[in-house]
Amino acid sequence: MGGCCCCFPAHKPPRENPMHPVGEPLIRHGSSSTAYRMITYNEGLSAVDRLKAGFRTFKTVIYDHNPKLFGPLKAGQSPKYMVFACSDSRVCPSVTLNLKPGEAFTVRNIASLVPAYNQKIYSVGSAIEFAVTILKVEYIVVIGHSCCGGIRELLSLKDDKPRSYHFIDDWVKIALATKKKVERENSLLSFDDQCTVLEKEVVDLSLRNLRTYPFVMDRLASGRLKLIGARYDFVHGRFETWHP
Ligand SMILES: [Zn+2]
Repeated sequence: MGGCCCCFPAHKPPRENPMHPVGEPLIRHGSSSTAYRMITYNEGLSAVDRLKAGFRTFKTVIYDHNPKLFGPLKAGQSPKYMVFACSDSRVCPSVTLNLKPGEAFTVRNIASLVPAYNQKIYSVGSAIEFAVTILKVEYIVVIGHSCCGGIRELLSLKDDKPRSYHFIDDWVKIALATKKKVERENSLLSFDDQCTVLEKEVVDLSLRNLRTYPFVMDRLASGRLKLIGARYDFVHGRFETWHP
């Protein structure tokens, strides 16, 4: 977000730009609809050169060919979605959900957790407030995922074990009561299967926690905002959603 001029839009572009319908792909390769492909780079590139090469590809393949999308975005943003996703490098929602620039205001953190309203947790609270009160997003989507390291750490926490990390344990403890419930109700399941259950239960906890933010409740009550739970399973290539 930073302090750039585009963050507080004086002009909001249309939510679904009629000049560039949501269904229109950003990348076209020939006539095949399945021709989206990832680009690989020479492994000998330095870290910085790899980033620059990636930007050059984005600039020439996407940015320069979609002025109807990027033009209005110079003046402001009007995303329909706020998305919570894990920081895990395998689950970038812009990639997995094919979200275009301007479509989703995104927060990524360990285990895609939303803490309950707490004015001392500035980062998440300010992002929700910005998305809901300024951008007026229509949907908040919380996405869990398979093999989540944050969820595994949460499920590994023991009452009699000192914390292992400076920050991670305290962060995932936001869902400590949910972890204990899952352990209680699924004691016959393996650790991995308990993790799978907990991945979804933690999404539901985050959805409940969203309702503790007064500005979220205001817009939910008036029907201008909806919540969506989701899980991306990258082991089996599946994506499921549900309404709380
Ligand atoms: Zn994760």
